[in-house]
Amino acid sequence: SPSAGVLNYGQASTPFPLISPNISLQQKTEKRGGIYEGTKANRTEDGRILLFRPDQNATRMMHGAERMCMPSPSIQQFVDAVKETVIANKRWIPPPGKGSLYVRPLLAGTGPILGLAPAPEYTFLVYASPVRNYFKEGTAPLNLHIDEEFVRASPGGAGGVKTITNYAPVLKAIARAKDRGFSDVLYLDAVNRKYLEEVSSCNIFIVKGNRISTPAISGTILQGITRKSILEIARDHGYQVEERAIPVDDLGDADEVFCTGTAVGVAPVGSITHRKRRIEFKTEGSLVCKELYSTLVGLQTGRIEDKKGWTVEIH
Ligand code: PMP
Repeated sequence: SPSAGVLNYGQASTPFPLISPNISLQQKTEKRGGIYEGTKANRTEDGRILLFRPDQNATRMMHGAERMCMPSPSIQQFVDAVKETVIANKRWIPPPGKGSLYVRPLLAGTGPILGLAPAPEYTFLVYASPVRNYFKEGTAPLNLHIDEEFVRASPGGAGGVKTITNYAPVLKAIARAKDRGFSDVLYLDAVNRKYLEEVSSCNIFIVKGNRISTPAISGTILQGITRKSILEIARDHGYQVEERAIPVDDLGDADEVFCTGTAVGVAPVGSITHRKRRIEFKTEGSLVCKELYSTLVGLQTGRIEDKKGWTVEIH
């Protein structure tokens, strides 16, 4: 049954209640591990509260758990826990247009054991924090650095899983990029050092005329829920959409580049620097990424009628 606590997290300006539905997940063959998810709850102008595709987060956690040899909550258990957390933290959801309640489900191996052995138990908990809109009108576009010293994920590894251990090695890469005046790192594939993979916490897209391309899912990048949604929205808007291996040289030919993720939504990229060459992209005027972002946020905040069944209303 749910219990409440107090936790300070990240940039949150206020302590907020933590609710942790302790779903029992013991099984004989379990291994230690930790995977997490990130989703948002938004208020609509007419006072409703909407979640965006939480079943997709649940499914991604189930697949991730399978890769990490962990048991997983069912889709129903996951979505119910997210709903419960949002209801318990209703007062922290910012007003429409001012931000969202970021919700983070975490599944972790726990219990007293050393070594690479099955954990005696697992804990599934959900915590939440109010966050501001990441991308506002007038926000500076991202300036990315391709730092070839760092690799995010290798084939055969767990790069496609939202496991907590994927994020520790990139902290140094991000810190170095920030020291050099960049916003973040764009990683190349580990084998050829030639193809675009993703940014530390978002997927990447390039636009050339009417064609929108994003790296194909290969097991080393995360299957972003925003990525999947933007691909569908772009198709609906009449763009030619493709998932393929994108060589770094294609950047020189791109009109626009943008990133997608639950935290950033859709963020324009102003430049990418690779081996001292700085490639610049369009960030002013009528942007494809702004058009797609507007539809995405419209759906997420109830401004646009959801004919896709992507939103879940919470009461
Ligand atoms: N790639 C990585 C490495 C991420 O951490 C995230 C954030 N979850 C994404 C891509 C974007 O995924 P989503 O759209 O589901 O937030």
